[in-house]
Amino acid sequence: MSRSRNLETICAAAGVGVDDAHNSVAPPLHLSANYAWNDPCEKPQYDYSRSGNPTRSQLEEALCALEGAEKGVVTASGMAALDLVLCLVSPGELVLAPHDCYGGTHRLLTARAKRGQFDVAFVDQSNPETLSAAFARAPKLVLIETPSNPLLRITDIGACVALAKKAGAITVADNTFLSPALQRPLELGCDIVVHSTTKFINGHSDVVGGAVLARDASIGEELAWWANCTGVTGAPFDSFLTLRGLRTLFPRIERQQQTAQTVVDALVADDRVETVFYPGLASHPGHDIARAQQKGFGPMFSVEFKEGVDVLQLLRATEIFTIAESLGGFESLICVPAAMTHASMSAEARQIAGISEGLVRFSVGLEHEDDLLRDISHALDSASITTSDNVSLFPKQAAKQCV
Ligand SMILES: *Cc1c(COP(=O)(O)O)cnc(C)c1O
Repeated sequence: MSRSRNLETICAAAGVGVDDAHNSVAPPLHLSANYAWNDPCEKPQYDYSRSGNPTRSQLEEALCALEGAEKGVVTASGMAALDLVLCLVSPGELVLAPHDCYGGTHRLLTARAKRGQFDVAFVDQSNPETLSAAFARAPKLVLIETPSNPLLRITDIGACVALAKKAGAITVADNTFLSPALQRPLELGCDIVVHSTTKFINGHSDVVGGAVLARDASIGEELAWWANCTGVTGAPFDSFLTLRGLRTLFPRIERQQQTAQTVVDALVADDRVETVFYPGLASHPGHDIARAQQKGFGPMFSVEFKEGVDVLQLLRATEIFTIAESLGGFESLICVPAAMTHASMSAEARQIAGISEGLVRFSVGLEHEDDLLRDISHALDSASITTSDNVSLFPKQAAKQCV
């Protein structure tokens, strides 16, 4: 029934009116680890919370409705969600992943491949030539992450799905960066969507969680079997909080992306800025694809500054932007990916992915845009030294100076 509703309504109404015991409007939280059987021969719907839990089910149902999935599993983290998907591949089979995927995903794929659990190839999926060359190796599973982190590269989901279908591969999209409010990969032909619900879906930076959502019930059942088998399912309290955060997904992300656009415009106009990586800019590679497959450009962007801007000082000088990893919360965050979010990648892998040591990533929150603009402007002034003979006293420093 909920599938015919608008996505905003699915979010706002998630878990409302599900309490048969007392008719509570807000849903109850079921913390119980186990559930009684009426009869030893009648297995109840819920018997043990690792296998199934009513509060977790509410979140799973809401996320399935939002992404257009048949069956979903809520996991303990985004990494647990990705690892769960990797249960679908066997030794000798190839996983095709973006060369600039989330740092933790890169580490997971590399570490598991090293153990021989599958083979992995990292490719630039935003480049049609390298992408079709990679498909010559007959992958079993293709992981898509668009926009990518931290350079916001755009992959054409439909084109990637077409290549995967021809190769008989499963396509999995990590939709963490946009959420179903701005992009719905299953509609574009993907088989599975993965989320770190830690980010926009919960949005309040107080839960680490994940989800795997499958278009076909049979793949969903297989994933649920593995989730119970390996014990990666999410905790009830985390599910309760995430469902609470989910209700405001639309107003949060819409406001945050509007503010991001304003901040991006200001940075593009600043002559101390070399490049702003934001899919909403007409000059951004993949802008047209983003326009076609996304409902908005999102609240995330990255910036490469010119010589003469000390990016570490920039981070230290911001007062509203907090120096932290993660993204998608109500609060504005700033980070240097090479030293923080992507430190688990080797320097070589970062170089191949184009992540320079001076790149700065921004996640725009719900603060007033004027305050954010003032904060960045003040921090940039404090981090910029230009001398009359144009010698930079503060060259873009290496991330290794941090350690
Ligand atoms: C954060 C993130 C993950 C990992 O999720 P956790 O909840 O931190 O385990 C995976 N993919 C992307 C794109 C992310 O941003």
